[in-house]
Amino acid sequence: MENSKSVKKIKVAELFYSLQGEGQYLGTPSIFLRVFGCNFKCAGFSMPRGQLSEERLAIDPKQYTDYKALPLVHTGCDSYASWDPRFKHLSPMMEVGEIVDKMEELLPNGMFGNDAHLIITGGEPLLGWQKMYPYLLAEIGRRQMGLNNITFETNGTQQLDQDFLDFLKANPFFPDLNITFSVSSKLPSSGEKWEEAIRPEIIRQYFDNSHLTYFKWVVSNQDDYDDVVRAIDTYTEGLGEGTMANIPIYIMPAGGTTMHYNDNEKWVADLCMKNGWRYTPRLQVQLWKNAWGT
Ligand code: SF4
Repeated sequence: MENSKSVKKIKVAELFYSLQGEGQYLGTPSIFLRVFGCNFKCAGFSMPRGQLSEERLAIDPKQYTDYKALPLVHTGCDSYASWDPRFKHLSPMMEVGEIVDKMEELLPNGMFGNDAHLIITGGEPLLGWQKMYPYLLAEIGRRQMGLNNITFETNGTQQLDQDFLDFLKANPFFPDLNITFSVSSKLPSSGEKWEEAIRPEIIRQYFDNSHLTYFKWVVSNQDDYDDVVRAIDTYTEGLGEGTMANIPIYIMPAGGTTMHYNDNEKWVADLCMKNGWRYTPRLQVQLWKNAWGT
């Protein structure tokens, strides 16, 4: 019998099947595994510069037993329940086998098949749970579910763990697995510190160990735009122009609500054309109003 230490578990905030709403694989059917925990708070989103949102703090966690019933917030991090310890009771510890059972239930015919992707998101998915991903992927591999594509949606601040890297390189289950890092590094609008958020040396590691690494930023005003330009300059200095030329840049309009989103989209589209960046809509706002589980 397995002793309790050998049981591999991950604290799961959400596990659902949807369409990828943003970036390179927009519209692709995907399993989203949202793990619990983040190194940031991003309380500055949609607030006047220098101010932090208290909207999240006004929500009483004791009133909620179901993640989907949680209120949406319009300021600060919109996935607050995936890292705020006050909401941790809504994120169960799940055994790796249980997680993969649920994935089988959600996927058409229980298979990733030709084109369904696995997206590991958060919170920040590259904190300590990295140690569990080899077990998770090995379980998916053992069940021969046809997984060909995995994306980590990260804030771009966490080193890859050596064991995880070794597993990805020697992975016997998925010789053709495409690994993508979708990096939304946090600009000053988040309220986080520039030097903690913009880390070219981390992006170098992702780039060197993936099939694709790309940046994805939300822009809502001129200050955000200026910060994107500055971030690109910093990354270019750290990574070199040759590398940056191979890292696509996606820009998306801000707005957790359709109204805010619509106000912003044409201006962002123009910026993208002017700078040669890629525009990405946010399907989860358009189709499902940014509800939990989408
Ligand atoms: S990095 Fe992402 S998940 Fe973490 S607090 Fe910021 S927006 Fe939220």
